[in-house]
Amino acid sequence: MSMIIEIQHIPVEGKRLEYSRKAESFPVLKTLSEKGECRFIEPLAIELTVVPERNLIRVDGVIATTIEQACSRCLADFKSELQRRFTLRFAREITAEFPAEGQAEKEIELNADHVGLSFFSGEAIDFTDSVQEQVVLTLPYKPLCSEACKGLCPRCGTDLNAGRCSCAQDRSQNPFAVLKNLSWPSQGQER
Ligand SMILES: [Zn+2]
Ligand SMILES: [Zn+2]
Repeated sequence: MSMIIEIQHIPVEGKRLEYSRKAESFPVLKTLSEKGECRFIEPLAIELTVVPERNLIRVDGVIATTIEQACSRCLADFKSELQRRFTLRFAREITAEFPAEGQAEKEIELNADHVGLSFFSGEAIDFTDSVQEQVVLTLPYKPLCSEACKGLCPRCGTDLNAGRCSCAQDRSQNPFAVLKNLSWPSQGQER
């Protein structure tokens, strides 16, 4: 079930890898699914193109699946297609080659972070964590069944997508409506 490529098996022209994996085989996605925050309807379709790039390994990836979530406005469950394209660059972990001695190592780490590098150690790269991270980054923070979702009435809880509630007529009674009817002294009257 692993998604591992051995560095020595990556040809100069690159190598394309395809996987189909259940979301439950990724620990974080499994947790999200168990909490009901996101249900994965289909397995993840994963395509990775692995290309040597000077002393780095570049990975162009596409992940696609279908998920079901609750709308953050109307709370109704809805399905949506999820697709993420990404490019990652992997570098061999440098901590072993540079002894942990203060500033020099810190600078290297910061620089590596800055250009968005991922790291591998040994002679193989395991893509499991990266794939999982990319899926999490794609999940909407506030899922919406539609951009135009009207949500629930904050007073009676009616789903306003399905129709109006009787609170609608009372809206004019909100405290701010009063301000409209106040007559402020105009500058002319003050003089
Ligand atoms: Zn909605
Ligand atoms: Zn209402």
